[in-house]
Amino acid sequence: MRALPLILLLTLVPLAAEEHPAPAPKAKAHPKVVSAPQHAAEAPVAAGPGTPKAALAELSAGNARFVAGKRVRTLDTGQDAAMRAALVQGQAPFAVVITCSDSRVPDALLFDQEAGRLFTIREAGNAPDLQGLASAEYAVGHLGSKVIVVMGHTSCGAVKAVREANGKPLPGNLWALQAGMAGLLESTPQDPNEDAKGHLAHLEEANARRQAQALLDRSPLLRDLLVAGKLAIVPALYNLASGKVQFLKAVAAAAAAPAHH
Ligand SMILES: [Zn+2]
Repeated sequence: MRALPLILLLTLVPLAAEEHPAPAPKAKAHPKVVSAPQHAAEAPVAAGPGTPKAALAELSAGNARFVAGKRVRTLDTGQDAAMRAALVQGQAPFAVVITCSDSRVPDALLFDQEAGRLFTIREAGNAPDLQGLASAEYAVGHLGSKVIVVMGHTSCGAVKAVREANGKPLPGNLWALQAGMAGLLESTPQDPNEDAKGHLAHLEEANARRQAQALLDRSPLLRDLLVAGKLAIVPALYNLASGKVQFLKAVAAAAAAPAHH
């Protein structure tokens, strides 16, 4: 058995990379970019939209159905077993949703999308850490997702906590929330004419915009796909009361000139 491990390792590594968001190799600061392979043959249930524009339109339409109380894609529990069977074959989520962990933001429901359609990254304050960023790169680079929506929401406790701390370290590991939103308070100071609630609303929107822009600053892979027109990155805000998602201005390719070539 002594001779086997190396062979097994060489055999298993590529397989493992197919199955999981591969952790970055320790020796390399920048994992090699995977040229977005399309897994059309593995597409589960219904094939997703094939362009960033169509992907965004599908999310918008799904949210409109949710707001109107007319969901169609997430209701038929009689199809659950068939859906599982289809999904065992593979996944091709057309959209990545980076949103807050808040339990009142059920992304699949509010976009009316069944399993296999959305690749969701949830962290308090929708401020992805490095593994969140790696997850987004995996979905876009390996699974072929066409759009990344960075979605904040009204009454966000994470943004509120960072606002109220006003630079003083939050207890425990909550300081990481502040690190993830570094610069937010400075970028969006409270207007003398607005109250705390109004300021929080401004911060929630600004945070979604800044986190969307930050994806490009942090990821050459995402930047290249955006510049090539193969990916859209769109900040958004979910309204807890109305259920409506307000899509904000997409991050512009012009603002994302490749800096690493
Ligand atoms: Zn939140």
